Amino acid sequence: MKVIDSIVSQALSLSFEVFPPKTDAAFDSVLSAAGEIADLRPSFISVTYGAGGGGSRYTVEIARALRRGSGTEVLAHLTCVGADRQTIRDYLKTLKDDGIHNIMALRGDLPAGTRPGDMRGSAYPHAADLIREIRASGDFCVGAACYPEVHPESASQAEDLRRLREKVEAGADFLTTQMFFDNDVFYNFMYKLREAGIAVPVVPGIMPITSPTQVERARKLSGSFMPRRFTNLVDHFGSSSEATKQAGILYAADQIIDLFANGIRHVHIYTMNKPDVAAAIQGHLSQMLGRTF
Ligand code: FAD
Repeated sequence: MKVIDSIVSQALSLSFEVFPPKTDAAFDSVLSAAGEIADLRPSFISVTYGAGGGGSRYTVEIARALRRGSGTEVLAHLTCVGADRQTIRDYLKTLKDDGIHNIMALRGDLPAGTRPGDMRGSAYPHAADLIREIRASGDFCVGAACYPEVHPESASQAEDLRRLREKVEAGADFLTTQMFFDNDVFYNFMYKLREAGIAVPVVPGIMPITSPTQVERARKLSGSFMPRRFTNLVDHFGSSSEATKQAGILYAADQIIDLFANGIRHVHIYTMNKPDVAAAIQGHLSQMLGRTF
């Protein structure tokens, strides 16, 4: 199945994300968490790709195990920064041989100490170059990343949107957003994106914050604006990990309800290998999703 089918379906739906282990020793525990997340029957599960290509083997292994074990549809992430053509082509062949037809095509973060211009001579300097390669390699459904609060390397939002349009013209079927904590940021972005002539479906990505340390990490990673309503929760409940977790789950569920109420039909949740968090959010939405869990 192509994940685009559930993204554009009229039914409200969720997808979840897992990240692969960094070491062999952690493989079984990640697989077990991914299996529990699959038991929640999301539309699909995305499996991230280790930064800088590290752990790429595990991305395929987790994706393969999910498909074979529970029949869950998967979206395998792939980054191209620093990769040569043969490695990418071999990887695409592996995915195809495993029946994995959905790829989230990313450049990946630049290695520490490199600047954007340093990548010019590489095989795939930008995600659009990878998307062209994937399109030439087979019948894949391709997703790409977008940034409601602008990618940190971009000089302006207008510039970022021009580059985003290149990814869509290269063949991206849909876009998934970086996390955001204020839905108005997403709605404003959607206006600008449509104005820029980008018409493909956009999937909002929601990150449930379940610990005070995650707030700082999320801020650093995404540069996201954190509304007062959100930071108040962390300030007030931050001393109790259980209370922070409960508040974070409810905050994420509330964001998703607002998105559904404003016409969005598919939301991706950065579940970070936490089946209990995925289950709790889904439980709060059960009647809206038209399912009992
Ligand atoms: P690009 O689309 O290539 O954009 C990167 C920057 O280059 C932007 O500033 C863009 O405006 C600019 N640019 C694009 N084209 C050009 C051009 N032709 N000339 C000049 N500038 C240009 N990282 C991982 O390592 N593994 C993952 O699994 C992963 N999953 C992700 C999933 C989502 C939904 C998101 C939002 C991010 C994810 N990331 C992941 C992080 C991502 O790799 C980084 O944000 C990375 O810095 C940019 O990747 P990109 O695909 O958006 O790059």
